[in-house]
Amino acid sequence: MNVAARVFRRGPFPIKVRLLEVRRVSRLSPHMMRITLGGEDLVGFQSEGADDHVKLLFPAPGQLKPVLPTVGPQGVVFPEGVKKPATRDYTPRRFDPVAGELDLDFVLHGTGVGSSWAANAKVGDFIGVAGPRGTFVVSNDFDWYLLAGDGSGLPAIGRRLEELPEGARAIVFIEVADASEEQRFDTRANVELTWLHRNGAEPGTTDLLELAIRGLTFPPGDYFAWAAGESTSMRRIRDYLLEERQANKNWVRVFGYWKRGAVDHEEPHD
Ligand SMILES: Cc1cc2nc3c(=O)[nH]c(=O)nc-3n(C[C@H](O)[C@H](O)[C@H](O)COP(=O)(O)OP(=O)(O)OC[C@H]3O[C@@H](n4cnc5c(N)ncnc54)[C@H](O)[C@@H]3O)c2cc1C
Repeated sequence: MNVAARVFRRGPFPIKVRLLEVRRVSRLSPHMMRITLGGEDLVGFQSEGADDHVKLLFPAPGQLKPVLPTVGPQGVVFPEGVKKPATRDYTPRRFDPVAGELDLDFVLHGTGVGSSWAANAKVGDFIGVAGPRGTFVVSNDFDWYLLAGDGSGLPAIGRRLEELPEGARAIVFIEVADASEEQRFDTRANVELTWLHRNGAEPGTTDLLELAIRGLTFPPGDYFAWAAGESTSMRRIRDYLLEERQANKNWVRVFGYWKRGAVDHEEPHD
């Protein structure tokens, strides 16, 4: 089979910015909040890939609704003389077009526009949602899948596990603070999941994920590897897979979703 065809990008899709309303707030664990969004603007929303992302536009403190741009021939244009909203990337954890609901799962890590917004969100609050602008299609016929991440990667991992077909094999490592942060996934796949506990260490300071991957006896066959979490620890995992294990680079996607000490960390991702 054509190597590239098993993992490929679709997009970019036209930019669409939506104003959505909080419909439900559910605490999944002490440090993970699920916010269910809805509203007329959700019509036409699409998200095909488990690691898709949307850009959230947050209301400024004291504002009911965020300042949203218009999208025209010149691209995205914000109203003049108004401060642009803070933005952050999040994963569409579940989208149900029939119910008209979009779930986003937020790590509550302390200070930060995204974390604080989710911690205080209540039914009727508004948020802007732009994207997804593209999607990565990953074929379901790999011999096995390696998935790894901390809380920020957990929504995409959970979504992939729920979307993998019966018979697919996934080896999964997820780093969380402790057992109270573990989640259950509704999956048809054959999943070997190991929760790694920080046991009091600060997020982004451990090498638990890297050591778990290094300690794995890689099963034979073609594998797709996906990991997301703190930038520095992800770099080590990417280097290990690509340089030491000589993994097929078309089948490896490893992302720094946040960086310790950095506000609104941005690094290239699709
Ligand atoms: C494609 C993509 C998809 C993502 N999907 C999700 C998702 O579904 N759910 C999710 O929770 N995050 C997700 N993230 C990560 C999220 O965008 C970042 O964690 C973002 O920094 C959170 O914004 P904030 O305003 O809360 O914190 P910021 O204002 O950006 O940062 C404030 C401080 O908090 C620290 N910090 C930021 N994130 C974390 C964290 N997760 N744990 C501990 N400390 C942190 C920073 O180092 C900084 O010191 C995703 C990122 C990308 C690129």
